[in-house]
Amino acid sequence: GRHDIDVVPIGFEYQGLRFDQDSFHIFAGLCAVDTPEHVEEIFRTLAELGIVTARMGAYKPRTSPYDFQGHGRDCLPWLFEIAGKHGIKVIAMEVLKESHIDEIFEELEKAGKPTGIMLQIGTRNAQNFELLKAVGSQKEFPVLYKRGMGLTLEESLNACEYIASGGNRNIIFCLRGVKSHLGSPHRNLVDFAHVPVIKRLTRLPVCVDPSHSVGSKEVAPDGLPDIFHASAQGVIAGANMILVECHPDPQTALCDGPQALTMEEMAKFVEDTKIIREAY
Ligand code: PEP
Ligand code: MN
Repeated sequence: GRHDIDVVPIGFEYQGLRFDQDSFHIFAGLCAVDTPEHVEEIFRTLAELGIVTARMGAYKPRTSPYDFQGHGRDCLPWLFEIAGKHGIKVIAMEVLKESHIDEIFEELEKAGKPTGIMLQIGTRNAQNFELLKAVGSQKEFPVLYKRGMGLTLEESLNACEYIASGGNRNIIFCLRGVKSHLGSPHRNLVDFAHVPVIKRLTRLPVCVDPSHSVGSKEVAPDGLPDIFHASAQGVIAGANMILVECHPDPQTALCDGPQALTMEEMAKFVEDTKIIREAY
């Protein structure tokens, strides 16, 4: 059959930023958008750190139906406005169904496109073939594809083929840990050793998500959270992007508070990441 992800041109440009197997970006922010005040504090801090890429969840796929499901479309107008105000150029945002793409497109247009969006396919939708076709058949937004938590690498790469075969080849492949029958001291078994494997098998830029891989802020004997260590392993392995969650007040986070870095930790994370990247 066809293998579009092997032959896609290497990398792409979006919002004036380069994404390829040599580029590097940190996408930091909330798991779930809550208040304009928190969003503002994050974007302001990122701007101070020289970061113009963020993550923000408006549509949340929750394991329990009783947990917060995200503010959805309602938060998009103020979210985009605050992003524009702080010079945030791209926000990674998960979509759960095709109509979410339209909602994002319409709200961005209405707001005058103050920022850009990277559509995120979450691990729970890693084989939602109709959703993959939907993000693949539009070319407005690049796609951040997260590996299926219980899928082989081959199955996840085939999912990226669904996206590419629809015409959209602006894809980034994200590792976020996998489930294991052996258990794991972390939320998931960290699979960042697969960064070079994906680079060898495809031409896609590779992202690592230490937040959902580790899932907690347990601290290693050297005083650094395991999230920092996992992230460093991804950077050393050649990751082109890091997706990381933070919150100005993690106790009040509506989703994934236990793994959210504070803004102070975020500043240290960015500083450490730069040092590691320069060293390797
Ligand atoms: C997320 O990034 O907020 C998320 C839900 O991640 P995953 O799909 O990897 O669980
Ligand atoms: Mn999360």
